Amino acid sequence: GAVIGILGGGQLGRMLSVAAARLGFTTHIYEPGANPPAGQVADRVTTAAYDDEAALRAFADSVDVITYEFENIPTEALDLLEAHRPIRPGREALRVSQDRLTEKSFLRDLGLNTAPFADVTDLDSLKAAIDAIGTPAILKTRRFGYDGKGQARLRAPEDAEAALADMAGAPAILEGFVEFSHEVSIIAARGLDGQVACFDPGENVHRDGILHTTTVPARLSPSQRTDAVLLAANILNALDYVGVMGVELFVTPQGLIVNEIAPRVHNSGHWTQNGCAVDQFEQHIRAVAGWPLGDGRRHVDVVMENLIGDDMERVPDLARQSDVAIHLYGKAEVKAGRKMGHFNRIIRDR
Ligand code: ATP
Ligand code: MG
Ligand code: MG
Repeated sequence: GAVIGILGGGQLGRMLSVAAARLGFTTHIYEPGANPPAGQVADRVTTAAYDDEAALRAFADSVDVITYEFENIPTEALDLLEAHRPIRPGREALRVSQDRLTEKSFLRDLGLNTAPFADVTDLDSLKAAIDAIGTPAILKTRRFGYDGKGQARLRAPEDAEAALADMAGAPAILEGFVEFSHEVSIIAARGLDGQVACFDPGENVHRDGILHTTTVPARLSPSQRTDAVLLAANILNALDYVGVMGVELFVTPQGLIVNEIAPRVHNSGHWTQNGCAVDQFEQHIRAVAGWPLGDGRRHVDVVMENLIGDDMERVPDLARQSDVAIHLYGKAEVKAGRKMGHFNRIIRDR
Protein backbone atom coordinates (compact mmCIF):
# COMPACT_ATOMS: atom_id res chain seq x y z
CA GLY A 1 0.00 0.00 0.00
CA ALA A 2 0.94 3.63 -0.29
CA VAL A 3 2.92 5.46 2.40
CA ILE A 4 1.55 8.70 3.81
CA GLY A 5 4.08 11.13 5.27
CA ILE A 6 2.80 13.38 8.06
CA LEU A 7 4.67 16.48 9.23
CA GLY A 8 4.07 16.84 12.96
CA GLY A 9 3.63 14.16 15.60
CA GLY A 10 1.00 15.63 17.94
CA GLN A 11 -2.48 14.28 18.62
CA LEU A 12 -3.75 15.32 15.20
CA GLY A 13 -0.93 13.38 13.53
CA ARG A 14 -1.73 10.45 15.81
CA MET A 15 -5.41 10.36 14.86
CA LEU A 16 -4.52 10.81 11.17
CA SER A 17 -2.18 7.82 11.47
CA VAL A 18 -4.92 5.66 13.00
CA ALA A 19 -7.31 6.61 10.19
CA ALA A 20 -4.65 5.93 7.56
CA ALA A 21 -3.93 2.51 9.07
CA ARG A 22 -7.63 1.63 8.93
CA LEU A 23 -7.57 2.28 5.19
CA GLY A 24 -4.52 0.06 4.77
CA PHE A 25 -1.92 2.81 4.40
CA THR A 26 1.46 2.99 6.09
CA THR A 27 2.39 6.21 7.89
CA HIS A 28 5.70 7.96 8.42
CA ILE A 29 5.80 10.83 10.93
CA TYR A 30 8.38 13.65 10.78
CA GLU A 31 8.71 15.39 14.14
CA PRO A 32 11.56 17.34 15.78
CA GLY A 33 10.42 16.58 19.36
CA ALA A 34 11.16 13.30 21.16
CA ASN A 35 8.42 10.71 21.90
CA PRO A 36 5.63 12.32 19.86
CA PRO A 37 2.05 11.08 20.54
CA ALA A 38 1.78 10.01 16.90
CA GLY A 39 4.93 7.93 17.19
CA GLN A 40 3.08 5.33 19.28
CA VAL A 41 0.74 4.46 16.43
CA ALA A 42 2.63 5.35 13.23
CA ASP A 43 4.62 2.77 11.31
CA ARG A 44 7.73 4.90 11.25
CA VAL A 45 9.01 8.08 12.91
CA THR A 46 11.83 10.38 11.91
CA THR A 47 13.06 12.56 14.77
CA ALA A 48 14.84 15.46 13.09
CA ALA A 49 14.71 19.24 12.82
CA TYR A 50 13.07 21.07 9.91
CA ASP A 51 16.48 22.35 8.76
CA ASP A 52 17.98 18.83 8.51
CA GLU A 53 18.10 18.55 4.71
CA ALA A 54 19.32 14.97 4.62
CA ALA A 55 16.54 13.84 6.96
CA LEU A 56 13.91 15.77 4.97
CA ARG A 57 15.11 14.21 1.72
CA ALA A 58 15.12 10.69 3.16
CA PHE A 59 11.62 11.27 4.56
CA ALA A 60 10.30 12.49 1.22
CA ASP A 61 11.89 9.54 -0.62
CA SER A 62 10.18 7.09 1.76
CA VAL A 63 6.61 8.34 1.22
CA ASP A 64 4.14 8.72 -1.67
CA VAL A 65 2.42 11.88 -0.51
CA ILE A 66 3.07 14.42 2.27
CA THR A 67 0.49 16.02 4.53
CA TYR A 68 0.75 17.90 7.84
CA GLU A 69 -1.00 18.45 11.15
CA PHE A 70 0.13 22.04 11.79
CA GLU A 71 0.63 25.08 9.59
CA ASN A 72 3.95 26.51 10.81
CA ILE A 73 6.34 24.41 8.76
CA PRO A 74 9.35 26.48 7.61
CA THR A 75 9.21 27.51 3.94
CA GLU A 76 12.67 26.09 3.15
CA ALA A 77 11.64 22.65 4.39
CA LEU A 78 8.50 22.79 2.25
CA ASP A 79 10.55 23.81 -0.82
CA LEU A 80 12.82 20.82 -0.36
CA LEU A 81 9.99 18.35 0.29
CA GLU A 82 7.87 19.61 -2.58
CA ALA A 83 10.71 19.01 -5.03
CA HIS A 84 10.34 15.28 -4.25
CA ARG A 85 6.70 14.56 -3.43
CA PRO A 86 3.30 16.24 -3.61
CA ILE A 87 2.30 18.19 -0.49
CA ARG A 88 -1.45 18.17 0.22
CA PRO A 89 -3.06 20.54 1.08
CA GLY A 90 -0.85 22.62 -1.21
CA ARG A 91 1.56 25.47 -0.56
CA GLU A 92 -0.95 28.26 -1.21
CA ALA A 93 -3.09 27.16 1.75
CA LEU A 94 -0.01 27.20 3.98
CA ARG A 95 1.21 30.54 2.71
CA VAL A 96 -2.17 32.13 3.32
CA SER A 97 -2.82 30.64 6.76
CA GLN A 98 0.66 30.98 8.30
CA ASP A 99 0.14 34.71 8.75
CA ARG A 100 -3.02 36.34 10.10
CA LEU A 101 -2.55 39.42 7.91
CA THR A 102 -2.23 37.37 4.71
CA GLU A 103 -5.14 35.19 5.83
CA LYS A 104 -7.54 38.03 6.62
CA SER A 105 -6.59 39.83 3.38
CA PHE A 106 -7.26 36.65 1.39
CA LEU A 107 -10.67 36.20 3.03
CA ARG A 108 -11.62 39.84 2.48
CA ASP A 109 -10.53 39.65 -1.18
CA LEU A 110 -12.82 36.62 -1.57
CA GLY A 111 -15.69 38.87 -0.51
CA LEU A 112 -16.13 37.23 2.90
CA ASN A 113 -16.76 39.16 6.10
CA THR A 114 -13.92 39.41 8.63
CA ALA A 115 -13.35 41.59 11.67
CA PRO A 116 -11.90 44.96 10.63
CA PHE A 117 -8.10 44.59 10.76
CA ALA A 118 -4.89 46.55 10.32
CA ASP A 119 -1.17 45.79 10.19
CA VAL A 120 0.76 46.80 13.32
CA THR A 121 4.54 47.12 13.45
CA ASP A 122 5.10 49.78 16.12
CA LEU A 123 3.29 52.21 18.43
CA ASP A 124 2.57 54.70 15.60
CA SER A 125 0.92 52.08 13.39
CA LEU A 126 -0.99 50.73 16.42
CA LYS A 127 -2.33 54.21 17.19
CA ALA A 128 -3.33 54.66 13.55
CA ALA A 129 -5.04 51.26 13.64
CA ILE A 130 -6.97 52.22 16.79
CA ASP A 131 -8.05 55.47 15.11
CA ALA A 132 -9.37 53.49 12.14
CA ILE A 133 -10.89 50.50 13.98
CA GLY A 134 -11.70 51.79 17.45
CA THR A 135 -11.91 49.85 20.70
CA PRO A 136 -12.57 47.30 22.06
CA ALA A 137 -10.07 45.49 19.87
CA ILE A 138 -7.64 42.59 19.98
CA LEU A 139 -3.95 42.74 19.10
CA LYS A 140 -2.64 39.38 17.82
CA THR A 141 0.80 38.27 16.66
CA ARG A 142 0.65 37.64 12.92
CA ARG A 143 2.35 34.25 13.23
CA PHE A 144 2.55 31.23 15.57
CA GLY A 145 -0.48 32.03 17.77
CA TYR A 146 -2.73 29.21 19.00
CA ASP A 147 -5.06 28.57 21.97
CA GLY A 148 -5.35 32.35 22.38
CA LYS A 149 -1.60 32.77 22.93
CA GLY A 150 0.07 35.90 21.54
CA GLN A 151 -3.08 38.02 21.98
CA ALA A 152 -3.80 41.15 24.01
CA ARG A 153 -7.16 42.84 24.44
CA LEU A 154 -7.55 46.62 24.29
CA ARG A 155 -10.57 47.96 26.17
CA ALA A 156 -9.59 51.56 25.43
CA PRO A 157 -6.93 53.41 23.37
CA GLU A 158 -4.91 53.86 26.60
CA ASP A 159 -4.18 50.10 26.54
CA ALA A 160 -2.03 50.48 23.41
CA GLU A 161 1.43 50.48 25.04
CA ALA A 162 0.71 47.51 27.30
CA ALA A 163 -0.80 45.47 24.45
CA LEU A 164 2.15 46.21 22.17
CA ALA A 165 4.58 45.15 24.93
CA ASP A 166 2.75 41.78 25.05
CA MET A 167 3.70 41.20 21.39
CA ALA A 168 7.39 41.23 22.39
CA GLY A 169 8.40 42.88 19.12
CA ALA A 170 6.64 40.38 16.87
CA PRO A 171 4.69 41.74 13.85
CA ALA A 172 1.02 42.00 14.81
CA ILE A 173 -2.47 42.69 13.54
CA LEU A 174 -5.16 44.72 15.28
CA GLU A 175 -8.68 43.31 14.97
CA GLY A 176 -11.88 45.06 15.88
CA PHE A 177 -13.82 43.20 18.56
CA VAL A 178 -16.71 41.27 17.03
CA GLU A 179 -19.90 41.27 19.14
CA PHE A 180 -20.88 37.69 18.35
CA SER A 181 -23.72 35.74 19.95
CA HIS A 182 -21.81 32.47 19.66
CA GLU A 183 -18.98 30.75 17.80
CA VAL A 184 -19.28 27.92 15.31
CA SER A 185 -16.91 26.13 12.97
CA ILE A 186 -17.35 24.17 9.81
CA ILE A 187 -15.05 21.31 8.90
CA ALA A 188 -14.86 21.11 5.13
CA ALA A 189 -13.10 18.72 2.77
CA ARG A 190 -12.10 18.89 -0.88
CA GLY A 191 -10.94 15.91 -2.89
CA LEU A 192 -8.26 15.69 -5.55
CA ASP A 193 -11.08 15.78 -8.14
CA GLY A 194 -12.48 19.04 -6.71
CA GLN A 195 -15.46 17.48 -4.95
CA VAL A 196 -16.38 19.38 -1.77
CA ALA A 197 -18.12 17.97 1.31
CA CYS A 198 -18.80 19.64 4.66
CA PHE A 199 -19.51 18.20 8.07
CA ASP A 200 -22.39 19.67 10.03
CA PRO A 201 -21.25 22.93 11.71
CA GLY A 202 -20.39 22.64 15.42
CA GLU A 203 -20.89 25.23 18.14
CA ASN A 204 -17.72 26.00 20.07
CA VAL A 205 -17.21 27.22 23.64
CA HIS A 206 -13.73 28.30 24.73
CA ARG A 207 -12.28 28.40 28.24
CA ASP A 208 -9.12 30.38 28.97
CA GLY A 209 -8.58 30.74 25.21
CA ILE A 210 -8.67 26.96 24.67
CA LEU A 211 -11.52 25.07 23.00
CA HIS A 212 -13.64 23.54 25.78
CA THR A 213 -16.64 21.97 24.03
CA THR A 214 -18.02 21.50 20.53
CA THR A 215 -21.74 20.74 20.28
CA VAL A 216 -23.57 19.46 17.21
CA PRO A 217 -25.96 20.56 15.95
CA ALA A 218 -24.96 24.22 16.33
CA ARG A 219 -27.58 26.89 16.83
CA LEU A 220 -27.88 28.17 13.25
CA SER A 221 -30.80 29.10 11.06
CA PRO A 222 -31.19 27.18 7.77
CA SER A 223 -29.84 30.17 5.84
CA GLN A 224 -26.83 30.52 8.17
CA ARG A 225 -26.13 26.82 7.71
CA THR A 226 -26.22 27.20 3.93
CA ASP A 227 -24.04 30.28 4.16
CA ALA A 228 -21.44 28.39 6.22
CA VAL A 229 -21.25 25.60 3.63
CA LEU A 230 -21.03 28.00 0.70
CA LEU A 231 -18.33 30.18 2.21
CA ALA A 232 -16.26 27.12 3.17
CA ALA A 233 -16.53 25.75 -0.38
CA ASN A 234 -15.60 29.18 -1.70
CA ILE A 235 -12.40 29.16 0.40
CA LEU A 236 -11.42 25.60 -0.59
CA ASN A 237 -12.00 26.22 -4.28
CA ALA A 238 -10.03 29.48 -4.23
CA LEU A 239 -7.04 27.61 -2.80
CA ASP A 240 -7.44 24.58 -5.09
CA TYR A 241 -7.40 22.81 -1.75
CA VAL A 242 -7.00 19.06 -1.18
CA GLY A 243 -7.78 17.77 2.31
CA VAL A 244 -9.74 18.85 5.38
CA MET A 245 -9.90 22.44 6.62
CA GLY A 246 -11.37 23.98 9.78
CA VAL A 247 -13.13 27.33 9.33
CA GLU A 248 -13.92 29.25 12.54
CA LEU A 249 -16.91 31.59 12.38
CA PHE A 250 -18.53 34.21 14.59
CA VAL A 251 -22.34 34.33 14.48
CA THR A 252 -23.69 37.88 14.53
CA PRO A 253 -27.07 39.45 13.71
CA GLN A 254 -25.39 40.76 10.52
CA GLY A 255 -24.37 37.26 9.44
CA LEU A 256 -21.36 34.99 9.66
CA ILE A 257 -17.90 36.49 10.13
CA VAL A 258 -14.83 34.38 9.39
CA ASN A 259 -12.40 34.38 12.32
CA GLU A 260 -9.66 32.10 11.03
CA ILE A 261 -8.97 29.05 8.90
CA ALA A 262 -6.79 26.05 9.74
CA PRO A 263 -5.43 24.04 6.75
CA ARG A 264 -5.74 20.71 8.56
CA VAL A 265 -7.99 18.57 10.69
CA HIS A 266 -9.33 20.64 13.58
CA ASN A 267 -10.05 20.15 17.28
CA SER A 268 -13.66 21.26 16.73
CA GLY A 269 -14.07 18.35 14.27
CA HIS A 270 -13.29 15.61 16.80
CA TRP A 271 -17.01 14.96 17.33
CA THR A 272 -17.07 13.37 13.84
CA GLN A 273 -15.21 10.34 15.26
CA ASN A 274 -18.43 9.20 16.91
CA GLY A 275 -21.04 11.15 14.98
CA CYS A 276 -20.36 10.14 11.38
CA ALA A 277 -19.62 7.03 9.34
CA VAL A 278 -16.48 8.73 8.00
CA ASP A 279 -14.76 11.13 10.42
CA GLN A 280 -12.56 14.15 9.63
CA PHE A 281 -9.35 12.13 9.92
CA GLU A 282 -10.42 9.49 7.42
CA GLN A 283 -11.83 12.22 5.18
CA HIS A 284 -8.45 13.98 5.18
CA ILE A 285 -6.55 10.76 4.42
CA ARG A 286 -9.03 9.94 1.64
CA ALA A 287 -8.51 13.36 0.08
CA VAL A 288 -4.71 13.40 0.20
CA ALA A 289 -4.57 9.80 -1.06
CA GLY A 290 -6.77 10.69 -4.02
CA TRP A 291 -9.75 8.60 -2.87
CA PRO A 292 -13.33 9.80 -3.26
CA LEU A 293 -14.58 11.68 -0.20
CA GLY A 294 -16.55 9.57 2.27
CA ASP A 295 -19.99 9.90 3.85
CA GLY A 296 -19.68 12.56 6.55
CA ARG A 297 -23.38 12.88 7.36
CA ARG A 298 -24.07 13.31 11.08
CA HIS A 299 -26.15 10.45 12.48
CA VAL A 300 -26.48 11.57 16.10
CA ASP A 301 -26.16 14.64 18.35
CA VAL A 302 -22.76 14.91 20.04
CA VAL A 303 -20.98 17.04 22.63
CA MET A 304 -17.19 16.86 22.37
CA GLU A 305 -15.26 17.98 25.45
CA ASN A 306 -11.49 18.41 25.67
CA LEU A 307 -9.51 16.88 28.52
CA ILE A 308 -6.94 19.53 29.43
CA GLY A 309 -4.20 18.98 32.03
CA ASP A 310 -5.69 17.66 35.29
CA ASP A 311 -8.97 16.81 33.53
CA MET A 312 -7.26 13.44 33.05
CA GLU A 313 -8.40 12.61 36.60
CA ARG A 314 -11.95 12.40 35.22
CA VAL A 315 -11.12 9.50 32.92
CA PRO A 316 -11.95 6.63 35.35
CA ASP A 317 -15.40 8.15 35.97
CA LEU A 318 -16.00 8.87 32.27
CA ALA A 319 -15.00 5.31 31.44
CA ARG A 320 -17.95 4.04 33.53
CA GLN A 321 -20.51 6.17 31.66
CA SER A 322 -22.55 4.89 28.75
CA ASP A 323 -22.77 7.03 25.61
CA VAL A 324 -19.24 8.35 26.19
CA ALA A 325 -16.38 7.58 23.78
CA ILE A 326 -12.94 8.43 25.16
CA HIS A 327 -9.98 9.40 23.00
CA LEU A 328 -6.61 9.78 24.74
CA TYR A 329 -3.38 10.98 23.14
CA GLY A 330 -0.83 8.93 25.11
CA LYS A 331 1.04 12.00 26.38
CA ALA A 332 3.32 10.93 29.23
CA GLU A 333 3.44 14.24 31.06
CA VAL A 334 0.35 16.09 32.29
CA LYS A 335 0.82 19.87 32.07
CA ALA A 336 -1.58 22.72 32.76
CA GLY A 337 -3.20 23.80 29.49
CA ARG A 338 -1.99 20.72 27.60
CA LYS A 339 -4.56 18.84 25.53
CA MET A 340 -4.40 15.26 26.89
CA GLY A 341 -7.47 13.83 25.20
CA HIS A 342 -11.16 14.43 24.57
CA PHE A 343 -14.43 12.59 24.85
CA ASN A 344 -17.53 12.50 22.72
CA ARG A 345 -20.85 12.24 24.54
CA ILE A 346 -23.63 10.85 22.36
CA ILE A 347 -26.92 12.66 22.99
CA ARG A 348 -29.82 10.31 22.32
CA ASP A 349 -32.94 12.16 23.47
CA ARG A 350 -33.05 15.82 22.58
P1 ATP B 1 -6.95 28.55 17.92
O1 ATP B 1 -6.49 27.73 19.10
O2 ATP B 1 -8.41 28.36 17.59
O3 ATP B 1 -6.05 28.48 16.73
P2 ATP B 1 -5.98 31.28 18.13
O4 ATP B 1 -4.94 31.42 19.18
O5 ATP B 1 -5.56 31.22 16.71
O6 ATP B 1 -6.94 30.06 18.48
P3 ATP B 1 -8.26 33.03 17.63
O7 ATP B 1 -9.11 31.92 17.13
O8 ATP B 1 -7.91 34.11 16.68
O9 ATP B 1 -6.93 32.51 18.36
O10 ATP B 1 -8.96 33.69 18.88
C1 ATP B 1 -9.29 32.90 20.04
C2 ATP B 1 -10.65 33.29 20.53
O11 ATP B 1 -10.65 34.67 20.92
C3 ATP B 1 -11.75 33.19 19.49
O12 ATP B 1 -12.24 31.87 19.38
C4 ATP B 1 -12.76 34.18 20.04
O13 ATP B 1 -13.45 33.62 21.15
C5 ATP B 1 -11.87 35.29 20.55
N1 ATP B 1 -11.63 36.27 19.48
C6 ATP B 1 -10.62 36.26 18.59
N2 ATP B 1 -10.69 37.30 17.73
C7 ATP B 1 -11.79 37.99 18.08
C8 ATP B 1 -12.41 39.18 17.58
N3 ATP B 1 -11.91 39.88 16.55
N4 ATP B 1 -13.55 39.60 18.19
C9 ATP B 1 -14.07 38.92 19.24
N5 ATP B 1 -13.52 37.80 19.76
C10 ATP B 1 -12.40 37.34 19.20
MG1 MG C 1 -5.68 29.74 15.31
MG1 MG D 1 -9.17 30.03 16.69
